[in-house]
Amino acid sequence: MADCIFCKIAQGEIPSTKVYEDDQVLAFRDLDPQAQEHVLIIPKKHLESVLALKAEDRDLAAHILIEVVPEIARSLNIDASGFRLVTNTGADGGQTVGHLHFHLLGGRSLTWPPG
Ligand code: C5P
Repeated sequence: MADCIFCKIAQGEIPSTKVYEDDQVLAFRDLDPQAQEHVLIIPKKHLESVLALKAEDRDLAAHILIEVVPEIARSLNIDASGFRLVTNTGADGGQTVGHLHFHLLGGRSLTWPPG
């Protein structure tokens, strides 16, 4: 999508600090980290939010949850200590970038509820 910053990151037009990449998914460090480890996991395909996922995206969604998240958590060494995986959706959800992304946060003891 032409004006989407995360599409530009996925296409390498805007640099990012990558922590994981495959043909469908990119994960990179958040520019404004809220924890010692703060990674954004995005599908390379443009999807506005989790609400835009369709049945045809079932394998992509499963791949992110079953393979990508655990692999990144292990690579960051936060699989044992724990982490938070969150996807902000829409205005009340605090979504500021309209391209589906999962925040993976760890490396400190996180509080609940979020603000
Ligand atoms: O959930 P939300 O849409 O607010 O998250 C967007 C995230 O993208 C923010 O944490 C922001 O710091 C990050 N970001 C980034 N690099 C950009 C633009 C936004 O890491 N170029």
